[in-house]
Amino acid sequence: MSLIVQKYGGTSVGDLARIRHVAERVARYRDQGHQVVVVVSAMSGETNRLDALGKELVSRPDSREMDVLLAAGEQVSIALLSMALIARGVPARSFLGFQVPVRTDDAFGRARIEEIDTQSLMAAVREGIVPVIAGFQGVASDDSVTTLGRGGSDTSAVAVAAALKADECEICTDVDGVYTADPRVEPRARRLDTITFEEMLELASLGSKVLHPRSVEFAGKYQVPLRVLSTFVEAGGTLITMESETMEQPLVSGIAHTRDEAKLTISGVPDVPGVASRILGPVSAANIEVDMIVQNTGADGLTDFTFTVKRSDFDKARELLAPVQSSLKARSLSGDDGIAKVSVVGVGMRSHAGVATRVFDALARENINILMISTSEIKISVVIAERYMELAVRTLHSEFGLEQAVPA
Ligand code: ASP
Ligand code: MG
Repeated sequence: MSLIVQKYGGTSVGDLARIRHVAERVARYRDQGHQVVVVVSAMSGETNRLDALGKELVSRPDSREMDVLLAAGEQVSIALLSMALIARGVPARSFLGFQVPVRTDDAFGRARIEEIDTQSLMAAVREGIVPVIAGFQGVASDDSVTTLGRGGSDTSAVAVAAALKADECEICTDVDGVYTADPRVEPRARRLDTITFEEMLELASLGSKVLHPRSVEFAGKYQVPLRVLSTFVEAGGTLITMESETMEQPLVSGIAHTRDEAKLTISGVPDVPGVASRILGPVSAANIEVDMIVQNTGADGLTDFTFTVKRSDFDKARELLAPVQSSLKARSLSGDDGIAKVSVVGVGMRSHAGVATRVFDALARENINILMISTSEIKISVVIAERYMELAVRTLHSEFGLEQAVPA
C-alpha cells in the first residue's frame, strides 16, 4: 500500500461534472489499496474573479484582507469535492490551511511554508478518511490566513507530500505531462516519460506553465517523487526524477519559450564603476525582476547597457529609467516590447560542448537574428524578435531531434 498525494488544479475541478469525475478517480485509487491525500485549487477562474473584486473595490486592497478573500476559492472546492466523495461512499474530510495546519511566514500574497503539522492528516488517513486540503492557503504565527502566491497550490501539494513522506505526489492537470516543447507551437512535440528536477526547474522558470517553479524547487530539495499527469486521460504522465549517473542523458530535453519579455537599452553611458547599479538600482527597488543583462565593451569611454524585464513591467521600468538617463547624461534610452525568449534545456549539455554553436547555426540558417544570449550549465537562452518565436522553437526542436523516440 502506498501513500499518494494528488493535487487537482482549477480546470480539474472547474465544474460539478469534473468534481464528480475527480471523486471517481480518487475512489479508484483507494479501491486499488492506496492511501490518498488530496490537495485542490479553486475552481478555474475563481481566484481571478475574487482578485478583480477586491481590486475593483479599492485600488490598493489591504494585503491581509486580500489573502482572506483569495483563499475563499479553495474553501469552495474542498467542500464540494469532499461532498462528492462522501456521496460516492468514500469517507472524506475537508481541511482549510489553518486546520492542517500549514504554517507560513506572514508575507501576505507570497507566504512561504515553514512547517506542516501532519498529525491531524495522518489521524484521518489511519481512519480511512481522505483528507481534502485547500491548496494555496497557510496560516501565519498570529493566526492570519495567508496565501502562497498565484499558482501556489502545486507547492502546497509538494509540501504536504514531503511532510507526509508520501510515495508520490501526482499533479493532476489538463495536460498529460511535460512536453519537449509547447505542442501548440510545435505539433511534433513529444511527451517526456521522465525529466530531471533541474531541467524541470529551468523549464518551469522559462515559461513552461505546467508546474509552479517553487513547487519543483521544493520537490528537488525534499526529494519528493513528482509526476505530472492528466486528470481526464489515463496515462503515465511525466515523472520528475533525480538525475542518475547511469541514465543516458539526452543532450537536450526540451525547448521553452516565453513571449512575456521586453528589453530596455541605455546607450552612450559613461563606462565607469557604479553605472550598472545606478541603472538597475531603481528598477529593482521597484520590485521589477531583471532577467538578462548585457553591457558592451566601451568605446570612447562610453558603453551601452541592455536588460530584459517582464513585458508587464516594461512601461514602469521605462519611466524609472528616464531620470537615470538624464542624470547619467546617456545618449539615448530605447526599448522593445516585441521580443521573445527561446531556451534550450538539457542536463546532457553539461558534458557536451558545441550545443551553443548548434543553436546559433540553426537559427542563422533560418535568418533569425539573435538579440541577446544567456547561458547556464544546462540551458541556452536567446532573445529574438517575437515574430520569429514559433519558427525558432520548431527549428531548435528539429535540430536536436526531439521529435524522435531517441533524442540526438
Ligand atoms: N487558486 C490559486 C490561483 O489561482 C492557486 C492555484 O491555483 O494554484 O492562483
Ligand atoms: Mg492553478
